[in-house]
Amino acid sequence: EKYVAGLDKSSSTFSDRINELAARFREINDEYFEELENILIMADVGVSMVMKIVSEIKAEVRIQNITDPREINDIIVDKMFVIYANESVMSTKINYAPEGLTVILMVGVNGAGKTTTIGKLAHRIVHDEGKKVIVAAGDTFRAGAIDQLAVWAERVGVDIIKGKEGGDPSAVVFDALNRAKETGADVLICDTAGRLQNKVNLMNELEKMNRIIKRVVPEGPHETLLVVDATTGQNGVSQAIEFSKITDITGIVLTKMDGTAKGGIVLSIKDQLNIPVKFIGLGEQVDDLQEFDLEQYIYGLCK
Ligand code: GDP
Repeated sequence: EKYVAGLDKSSSTFSDRINELAARFREINDEYFEELENILIMADVGVSMVMKIVSEIKAEVRIQNITDPREINDIIVDKMFVIYANESVMSTKINYAPEGLTVILMVGVNGAGKTTTIGKLAHRIVHDEGKKVIVAAGDTFRAGAIDQLAVWAERVGVDIIKGKEGGDPSAVVFDALNRAKETGADVLICDTAGRLQNKVNLMNELEKMNRIIKRVVPEGPHETLLVVDATTGQNGVSQAIEFSKITDITGIVLTKMDGTAKGGIVLSIKDQLNIPVKFIGLGEQVDDLQEFDLEQYIYGLCK
């Protein structure tokens, strides 16, 4: 299956390395733990999370009196689960409006895969859930963004509302909200500009969009999904932190998990932000978007 294959590719390095480490060390000592730390860091787990995991593993090794490194791999898996799942239970489901229109805002820096993800998400919602979807070309800033989204809308067979390049993105969203209401659409997915380098502008733009959405759909937006390129590792995590300061993020889409991504970024995001990863992107095709599944992910990472 694509999901597993995709994860295998991005995580084989990690599982290979912990297996190789276990094979190389006859006993568990400081040097072993140092190497384990390095492997976790290389996998993009993030330093503070690595410290947490390793100290819990050390404690477990002491309590269970483990001497064989090969027995540790199961503990690594357990600890990752416990650390990921312990705090709040995080739903990977889209938070749909109980009735009426659901509004989803998509944010993320240029190149992260926002447009592609909107296309894939629209397809998923139409195809798997039988809902009527409209997309709003709210990135009026990046040259070509509107046309690129229009190509996806056509491919997926959904309506697109667009304005002029350089125009007011909130006006586009306003038109799209009205069209959605008129046509009885279930879900409106709004693209936004990805210019994180101009934080004040972006913040104002997103605030205005939020206000306009609330005027038409008071409890909206129902989701603000941040698209993060998993191959950017800790930079991606830093970006996510910046975005979470600008607007309330309700979920993360990790793209390019089919590439060379080091899958530990999922744990790092949990550690730094406590925002659920809701979807992962596994390619450039229309059905290359999967709901994030923690169990499949961690077993894929460590197997
Ligand atoms: P945007 O600037 O954030 O809208 O990014 P795009 O949607 O244009 O994506 C940037 C590039 O990444 C494009 O070439 C996409 O085909 C590619 N891309 C997006 N998502 C994925 C993914 O999950 N896997 C792979 N391999 N490529 C992706």
